[in-house]
Amino acid sequence: MKICVIGAGFGGLAVSTLVSDAGHETHVFEKESMVGGRGLTLNMDMDLSGYKSLLKQFHMWVPFAEPSLEEIYEGLGKGYSIDLGFHLMGGGKNAAPARVLSSQGIHLDLVGSRLGYIGEKVSYPFLSATDKIKIVPRIFQLLFSRKSTISSLKDVSMAKTIQKYGKGKLTLTLELFPRLITTVNDLNRISTGDTFFAQRELMGSSPVSYPLGGIGSIGKQLAWCTEKNGGVIHHKEVDNVIVENGIARGIQVGGEEEYFDVIISNLPVQDFFSLVPPEEFPGLRDLKKLPGTGSLCAYYALTDIPRHLLGKSFMFIERDLDVDGSDAAGIIDFKMACPQVGTSPPGKFLVQSYVICGPDEAKRKKKMDILRPVLDKYLNRLVPGYRKNMDWCFYPSVWQLDGVAKTIDIHKPSCVTPIKNLYFVGDCIESAGVGVNCAVDSAIRLVDILKVSHGVKH
Ligand SMILES: Cc1cc2nc3c(=O)[nH]c(=O)nc-3n(C[C@H](O)[C@H](O)[C@H](O)COP(=O)(O)OP(=O)(O)OC[C@H]3O[C@@H](n4cnc5c(N)ncnc54)[C@H](O)[C@@H]3O)c2cc1C
Repeated sequence: MKICVIGAGFGGLAVSTLVSDAGHETHVFEKESMVGGRGLTLNMDMDLSGYKSLLKQFHMWVPFAEPSLEEIYEGLGKGYSIDLGFHLMGGGKNAAPARVLSSQGIHLDLVGSRLGYIGEKVSYPFLSATDKIKIVPRIFQLLFSRKSTISSLKDVSMAKTIQKYGKGKLTLTLELFPRLITTVNDLNRISTGDTFFAQRELMGSSPVSYPLGGIGSIGKQLAWCTEKNGGVIHHKEVDNVIVENGIARGIQVGGEEEYFDVIISNLPVQDFFSLVPPEEFPGLRDLKKLPGTGSLCAYYALTDIPRHLLGKSFMFIERDLDVDGSDAAGIIDFKMACPQVGTSPPGKFLVQSYVICGPDEAKRKKKMDILRPVLDKYLNRLVPGYRKNMDWCFYPSVWQLDGVAKTIDIHKPSCVTPIKNLYFVGDCIESAGVGVNCAVDSAIRLVDILKVSHGVKH
């Protein structure tokens, strides 16, 4: 079969890897000159205008920089690489990208760790062995009690679950992890079933990890696998999907028409309307309105940090803020700071962090003014007086971190569309986990669906 994948994000590249491996003629079309979509790692030697245009493309802006972004890009940032914004991957070697790469014989090199907590005191790990003995049976009780299955907890909000079962450290655990898993602060909007399911899927490895070379190394390795399997990656923007009588036949690209048996879109679903006429796709307008998730991220370039922090990640929760959900959770992470990750020049330490906010809040300077001091405060608790050792810092804000938020009130669309032979893949699609895990897991699920509908082998 001749298969077209529109977009070389992690979801698109995972599906192109799997279908090309199964022997199908695979063509990926990516409008940018690089692969990886939102999972990009950028060398800071690139010019600032290029970086700014990527920020715009991926729904981001930089509300603060010290000194200015111009000064950072024109000198101070040389030798560093950064992602578009903070990235950590849930699940370590059990994460979906690691599983797809391992199916291709590639071992993903990761720095993985457990999670610490910055409260009045800093604790690492957050859950001690004794806590686990106390808390884990309670969580299992939650999962398998009267409601008996996780899916029946899908419609129960985390706020209600905490009200009913929250006690001692379990309350804080249930306030933190679901927020960090979904990138949503409002516990009334977080589904108990979805978060337990996401957590259960990733059990058995490091809770959080970061790949050597940056998050972008995953996209590069998936692209390498696609090409090794005979797939072709074209750096061209797709203008249209050709639909005739409810069947997708091909695409228009660079003024030419090309025909395919299967077309897979990796675009964020809200953008898909630009490729097909709405009359061909019932419900297209509803897709356009689906909200993503938001965060304020920060990168701090430090000349020194306490060595015991290297490789670890620390959660925090700031109470009673004027933001959605009132309390805002986030992470200060020291994985990028590890020399073996290779994103900072020798002797320098890049610390990444983020605090969650609503997607609309991420666009508003006033809300960013509230959140920036939160990030600085928690970094200062871990590295007291860090500013004395700081070469530069800047704060990218994003309102489409996850393509579509995973909440109780939002139903993500499925891989299968109302148009025959046209499918979706990516983090906007109903699948296990969030972010990079959801994007790649949706590709694994789609290949299973194609096996049945189109006899795709694998
Ligand atoms: C700042 C930030 C922080 C994040 N932090 C985390 C994190 O800590 N953990 C986590 O798991 N996830 C995180 N994410 C989310 C994660 O990056 C995404 O979930 C994942 O990369 C999405 O992959 P995707 O394949 O769904 O889509 P995308 O990455 O959006 O890929 C879509 C691709 O389609 C291309 N495209 C669009 N239109 C066309 C066209 N017409 N023709 C051809 N190509 C086209 C785009 O250029 C892009 O490459 C973060 C995202 C951001 C932006």
